[in-house]
Order: sequence, then structure tokens, then C-alpha cells
Amino acid sequence: MNAVPKQMNHDIVLAADQLTRHYSVKKSMFEQGTVKALNGVSFELKRGRTLAVVGESGCGKSTLARQLTMIEEPTSGRLLIEGEDVAGASKAKIAELRQRVQMVFQNPFASLNPRKTVEQTLGEPLAINTKLSASQRAERIAQMMRTVGLRPEHASRYPHMFSGGQRQRVAIARAMILDPQIVVADEPVSALDVSIQAQILNLFMDLQQQFGTSYVFISHNLSVVEHIADDVMVMYFGGVAEVGDKQTIFAKSRHPYTRALMSATPAIFEEDRRIKIKLQGEMPSPLNPPSGCTFHQRCPWAIERCRSEEPKLREVDGRQVSCHRAEEVGDGEA
Ligand code: SF4
Repeated sequence: MNAVPKQMNHDIVLAADQLTRHYSVKKSMFEQGTVKALNGVSFELKRGRTLAVVGESGCGKSTLARQLTMIEEPTSGRLLIEGEDVAGASKAKIAELRQRVQMVFQNPFASLNPRKTVEQTLGEPLAINTKLSASQRAERIAQMMRTVGLRPEHASRYPHMFSGGQRQRVAIARAMILDPQIVVADEPVSALDVSIQAQILNLFMDLQQQFGTSYVFISHNLSVVEHIADDVMVMYFGGVAEVGDKQTIFAKSRHPYTRALMSATPAIFEEDRRIKIKLQGEMPSPLNPPSGCTFHQRCPWAIERCRSEEPKLREVDGRQVSCHRAEEVGDGEA
């Protein structure tokens, strides 16, 4: 996982290069402030693979999702969808690119229109974006319902007539109906009963097998990530702490924040069980970011340099990591 390559690489379906999103907010009656929600995030999503984005709430995951789905424009940085630069693209081009990147939200009850039947929910994007006839659309809807494990005879039902898991299946069908190259899923199982979560994760994986879809899968739950991810990107305070393939990062994480997250989920991380790291304190206020490494106030490995010098994302031991002490982290106690 490197920064955006100069030449278009057909294996890379989405590339973010220094994506940054700042918001202007009122600090007080007289003072304006800037919240740096996303701070120079770079990564690549490979075709047919799943990149899991992990971190505490407030780390910038959902802001990232809004940039990737083109709901919001970044303050700076570049986003390339299948090699095409979103910045400066015409309105028609953006509309076309939006079809290629679909989103699944956390709460299907909130994301589905309660007044629309499944047939209407799935039929609308087909009517707007394709030249299919009414009977072809009905056939496509029935086929998609079967694909996601719903019964086509339930197409005239409204969202409230389904269970939580079934509603998320409807939301997934809506995301998949235009055959997108990329699906951004923002905590898609965290609102569901634990017993249903595995079924929905397996559905995502089956769809990927069948259609070759690439996923950006946002989750705070490392057990979920362990199940679904090929690559993992750990975010902290709007930036990338560590990114690489799942096996490399799970075998030996090289960022203290990744290690702290893993310590909190011991069942799947044999190695990290020995070295427990408890996160101290809260994430700093985005209106008052710390100097140097944004993690230094909570980091057991912090040294003087960390307070003044921001670590850059760099290659260490087969992954990218932003920590001055990455070579030592993972090889012993702080
Ligand atoms: Fe901790 Fe320093 Fe690494 Fe930041 S740069 S994670 S403070 S050791």
C-alpha cells in the first residue's frame, strides 16, 4: 500500500492521496475554529478486496466514508476512482462515478425510506440509471432479492415489515443493484443482533466472490475485521496510524495504538495477549490538537521527540506505520 501511483494501475480500484477534510466551527461567540476531521489520508483499495478501516469513534472514519462516496468534497487531496480523478470532473462524470461507489449505512431502518416498498427502493436507481424496461427491472429486482437472501414475493413489503437483518439485506440489495465496483460500508453490522451479524458478514463475502466488488469496510470491532478484511487501516485522530495486509498487522502490530486496540480484543490476538496496553485518557479535542504525534498524550512509548515532531507514514516490516518508534514497538514492552 503506497501513495497513488503515477500510472493508472488496473488492480487499484480506488486511491486516496493525502485526503484532507477540515470543518469550520464556532469555538465561542467570538472565535472561529477549524476541526481537522481528516488529515492527509492516503491508501489504495485493490480490486475484489476488502480494506477494513478501524478506530475509535471520532477518528475520522465516517468523514472518510463521505469523501469516498463523493457526498462531500475534500478540503484538499485527491481521490481516484478506477484511475479517474474526481477533482475537476464534470457533473455528468461525477454522477457516473457515484454509480460505481455505493454505500451501506449502519442503521437500515434510518437509511431506507419507510414509505417505499422494496420494489420501489430497488427499482428507482434502475429507472434513473438504466434503460431497462419495467418487466426487465422487475426481473432484475427479483434476481437481486434472491441473491441477498430475500424472497421476491416480498417485494411489495415496506421496511417495517422486515426484521433488522432482512432490512440490512434490502439496503445491501439497493447498494448492489447497479453493479458497483466499490461498496463503502459504515459499521453495517453493529446495529444488528450478534446472532445475525455473521450472516450479514457472510453475505458481504459471498457477494464479493460473485461480483468481484471491492469493499471499504468501516468498523470499530476487530473481531468483525478479522472475519472480513484483506487489508486493514487503523485510523487515529483523522490520520493513518498503520495500514497493511491483515496477516502482517495482526501477526505483529507496529503502532502503539493498534496494539492497544488489539489488547482490548484478546480472543483473536495471541501475541498481544502477552503485552497488554491500556489506552489512557480520551482522544484529544479536535479543536485543540496536540503538537507532534497526535497520540503522544496516551502513548506508553512516547519520548520527548514525540511531543514536538509529527511522525510520517513510512514502511516498516511490510506495512506503513506512522510512529517514531515503530521498529521497537511489537518487540517488547514500552
Ligand atoms: Fe507513541 Fe511516539 Fe509512536 Fe506517537 S510517535 S505512537 S507517541 S511512540
